[in-house]
Amino acid sequence: MKVLVDPRAGFCGGVRRVVKMAEKVMEETRLPLVSLGDIIHNEVEIARLSEQGLSSIDHGGMASDCGPKKVLIRAHGEPPETYERAKQLGVELIDGTCPVVTRSQNIARKHYEAGEQVVIIGKPYHPETIGIKGHCDNKAYVVYERDDVKQLDPNKKVFILAQTTVSREWFEERIAWIKEYAHNVEVQVENTLCRFVVGRDSDLEVFAKQVDVIIMVGGTKSSNTKALYGVCKRMNDRAHLIVDESELDYSWFRESDTIGVTGSASTPHWLLEKVRDTIGQQTGAEILRDTANWEAQQQDHELAAIEKDDCSC
Ligand code: SF4
Repeated sequence: MKVLVDPRAGFCGGVRRVVKMAEKVMEETRLPLVSLGDIIHNEVEIARLSEQGLSSIDHGGMASDCGPKKVLIRAHGEPPETYERAKQLGVELIDGTCPVVTRSQNIARKHYEAGEQVVIIGKPYHPETIGIKGHCDNKAYVVYERDDVKQLDPNKKVFILAQTTVSREWFEERIAWIKEYAHNVEVQVENTLCRFVVGRDSDLEVFAKQVDVIIMVGGTKSSNTKALYGVCKRMNDRAHLIVDESELDYSWFRESDTIGVTGSASTPHWLLEKVRDTIGQQTGAEILRDTANWEAQQQDHELAAIEKDDCSC
């Protein structure tokens, strides 16, 4: 029996960056820290960070009389009103907005200020969409369902961008709806999909087929975990979903199996390694090492380049 971690699994660069930021602030100040909304949809990682002093509040909590003086903005970003409100309240913001999301916010604002109809293809209540819309004075349009295109003026130039984490197919289907509706005007499209998560489905399909059993590790509130578990199930009948190593059932494994351990963009790599090592210890399976650290370093480097705005992408 062999066990390995999917080399592409684990935090995306933006989540890894904001988690490191939170840990650094708590270590330097030796004080607890609050984030505006849950920093990540993974209860195991939330529990680990809360032991270090991280908790979360909502916008009302930031404005309350006994509210915090320092607040972390998570990777999804926030609309400008949040920054203005924090300034009025004397709250210091630590900005963990992912540089890929900041780039989308800047692109959207530029086109909005040029007088174009800005369309965000994404989920209307997703915090990233709300943030980008806010950067257009809340006047950008969100297209999620087909009827949403009817909000647009079919005679005015349209500029389209995507919520960073939607699938390419989903994005392209909605672009086609808009082009059909606004066929008399120029429709400009900027592909703002996050390249760290685009293609994750097809990579996971390959990995799920390569192994005999696949274990998806992820948070119960994570929609990315549910979607990727669906991919595993489609490719491999012997797919199982767990929150952590305590949910492993060793009757799932047979003597000559290769067991793959995978996770979503919100599953920490240390947890994947813990699941892998627990399977190794309990079954005697040989532990195969992966290359995720190398990939993580590449992502961190690219994000830093985007942040400095000196990348060629
Ligand atoms: S934009 Fe990409 S790297 Fe940034 S937080 Fe979202 S998925 Fe992660």
